[in-house]
Amino acid sequence: MARLAQTHGLTDVQQEILATVRDFVDKEIIPVATELEHRDEYPQQIVDGLKELGVFGLMIPEEYGGLGESLLTYALCVEEIARGWMSVSGIINTHFIVAYMLKQHGTQEQKEYFLPRMAAGETRGAFSMSEPGLGSDVSAITSKAVKDGDEYVLNGQKMWLTNGGTSTLVAVLVRSDEGHPEGTAPHKSMTTFLVEKEPGFGEVRPGLTIPGKIDKMGYKGVDTTELIMDGLRIPANRVLGGTTGRGFYQMMDGVEVGRVNVAARGCGVAQRAFELGVSYAQQRHTFGKPIAEHQAIQFKLAEMATKVEAAHAMMVNAARKKDSGERNDLEAGMAKYLASEYCKEVVEDAFRIHGGYGFSKEYEIERLYREAPMLLIGEGTAEIQKMIIGRRLLEEYRFQG
Ligand SMILES: Cc1cc2nc3c(=O)[nH]c(=O)nc-3n(C[C@H](O)[C@H](O)[C@H](O)COP(=O)(O)OP(=O)(O)OC[C@H]3O[C@@H](n4cnc5c(N)ncnc54)[C@H](O)[C@@H]3O)c2cc1C
Repeated sequence: MARLAQTHGLTDVQQEILATVRDFVDKEIIPVATELEHRDEYPQQIVDGLKELGVFGLMIPEEYGGLGESLLTYALCVEEIARGWMSVSGIINTHFIVAYMLKQHGTQEQKEYFLPRMAAGETRGAFSMSEPGLGSDVSAITSKAVKDGDEYVLNGQKMWLTNGGTSTLVAVLVRSDEGHPEGTAPHKSMTTFLVEKEPGFGEVRPGLTIPGKIDKMGYKGVDTTELIMDGLRIPANRVLGGTTGRGFYQMMDGVEVGRVNVAARGCGVAQRAFELGVSYAQQRHTFGKPIAEHQAIQFKLAEMATKVEAAHAMMVNAARKKDSGERNDLEAGMAKYLASEYCKEVVEDAFRIHGGYGFSKEYEIERLYREAPMLLIGEGTAEIQKMIIGRRLLEEYRFQG
């Protein structure tokens, strides 16, 4: 975009990476996105192209074969990719979260084994907290791991795995009673297991079934699945970080960077909606002039652009805070909340500007209209973000009376 959503202070390397990704989005994603989305088709060619560009290893340290870039670079790339097609950013996102969790919490052996494969895009990550009975309330997880010699036996059902079918490594959060006696706080008796599997559907490893794709209103192309563990045996050296009982903290750390990422997606989708709205408004005539010349439409464009600008600034701030080594849960929660709400509003305004044509599948805005709501839910709903923001504010502004 010529004027909006600029980021100041980027290095030459960051600018070069972003220009390359943007060019790829304009040439390889935008022209095919809507057609593939309508067919619910996995964008294999796009994924192969992103692999070649090194996007799957963007934040993985150079010593493990990645580009060793910052969260900011990653988030700005995600913004560009989501501007092209949100589903593609979803394919990268869970991979990025798992790689980040390995980098932060993995044992040396786990890092050396998984990260080079993940940087090359050969091993592809998914992460799994949600279950049929819970999403927001992670502490209520019922899936269980029980120790049996040098292995753990996992049982339970998981829900809503983005990339559940295409991934080959799933970070699965389960309750593990071993070493954590009855009465231990729920978040201290959870463990993340690194579960390798074949891609595809059906029994992808003995004791592990991926039943099939969930049929969704939008966010198509990327597969979202359930995961069923029935006596799944995982060696003890595949406990993330080597110690049980740390899973809740590891996952929350992963979700925190994931929130910046979802904010970036909201920015990208909102930018595309603005581009579509401002372009259509100058082509469509009513009452003898382009609708862009009616003040009501100009006001809409002004509101949309202001929201695009504000969301981008919040997202960049949250990413930079994390990159500086500081705690960023407040900023990430605010960025995710604001960017996803604004995204929905900007998309709705662009849809209205399109009049009846916005309802036609021939127009790209129809796809964006079905995609934007997912951002209100994924990586914690708006209500959950407000709970996090509220708690942190009360910590920061504790009444001293
Ligand atoms: C397309 C898609 C992809 C997903 N991908 C993944 C994935 O890869 N991995 C994964 O683990 N999960 C994934 N999820 C799950 C997602 O994280 C959850 O859907 C989300 O956290 C909400 O949980 P829930 O659906 O169980 O809603 P619930 O937790 O049942 O919430 C229902 C409603 O109640 C509100 N609510 C809940 N608790 C409170 C409270 N204390 N106060 C006020 N309001 C409250 C919520 O905000 C929401 O409006 C995905 C979901 C979707 C739709």
